[in-house]
Amino acid sequence: MAGPDRRLVQTAVIGSAASGLGIVLPQEADELRRLRRRHPTYTYWCGTQLGGCGSKLSDRLCADKVCHFAHAPNASCRRRANGVNSADHLFIKQGLARWARGSGVDARAVLRDLGSGPGDAVDFRVRGSRQRVRFQFRRLTHPEWCSAGEELERDAASLDWVFGPGSVHPETVAEMYGRFGHVLRFRFGTEGVTRRIRIRAEEASGSTDWVPLDACAMTPEGLRVPGAERRRRTSRPAVAPPTAPDGTAPARAPVAPGAQASLAPGRGSSADASGRRPAAGAARRPGPGAGPLVRKVQRLVAELNVLAAPAEAGLRTKAERLDSEAAAWAVRYGRLTSADFWSGRATKVAAQGESLAGRLEKLAQDLG
Ligand SMILES: [Zn+2]
Repeated sequence: MAGPDRRLVQTAVIGSAASGLGIVLPQEADELRRLRRRHPTYTYWCGTQLGGCGSKLSDRLCADKVCHFAHAPNASCRRRANGVNSADHLFIKQGLARWARGSGVDARAVLRDLGSGPGDAVDFRVRGSRQRVRFQFRRLTHPEWCSAGEELERDAASLDWVFGPGSVHPETVAEMYGRFGHVLRFRFGTEGVTRRIRIRAEEASGSTDWVPLDACAMTPEGLRVPGAERRRRTSRPAVAPPTAPDGTAPARAPVAPGAQASLAPGRGSSADASGRRPAAGAARRPGPGAGPLVRKVQRLVAELNVLAAPAEAGLRTKAERLDSEAAAWAVRYGRLTSADFWSGRATKVAAQGESLAGRLEKLAQDLG
């Protein structure tokens, strides 16, 4: 038979059906014998926090195949995930609680059922600073990620996403690269009867090392992973940060990945009012589905045009050249297909947009 039998139940919770204490059953008979000797009073359950049926499980010691948990005969169970990684959301929840206690942070981790079970996501919330970290297990489409981001950032001062294996859509990755310069990912490794998370930052050009949670820190800017330089977190123009009910402003304006950027209205039209000919194109009029990067470039072009209007000829020419380049880039960006997002071409085009945005900002500074 090829590969492990994925129907075998490899995880459970200890103590009761509602327990949040996950365990991975050792696969080797000798290791299971050792576990039984060490913890003779453990009882195992098809936990509700695993999306299980809540019934008691027995630990099946097998010499000829991997050891596994088993329901009573004739039990009917609809639990969807049974593999070695199926309790990872419980392990990270415990790990986060430990990490917060060790760092003196008042925070809690909450399981989020996004429709397929309690292990879809885990949200870490720091109470005082209203910071959030979302550990995403279930795969999200790009639009799902956008709307989840809007929901999560509503009352948050910072929001970080950490994606599990296969949970992030390539289009989301391209957008994260464009906005933050990197994407945070997690993976788990089995250590005895538990599993431990490791995190790293992935950039278009490379990745940081996988590090345990203890190596990371919550900073006023959000989750800090060693070696990862966070780019400016928002491309929005200065918008007054919302004021908390108690009258204090949050440390910085909330950022929602995928939130429809609230570009100051009227900026584009002020450029038009300057009497300048309409731009060649698409940079000025992104479709309703245009992403934040397109809107950012559009905003920068509009601002640059205002600044360049009274400038000397040489700078005006530079500005016009960037305007045309932005229009051509927006057309390229608009033509990306979902295949491009899978192939990585989209990441390249997004990087070109970021580079363009950098040059637009630079020239605007020279003019300002
Ligand atoms: Zn069950």
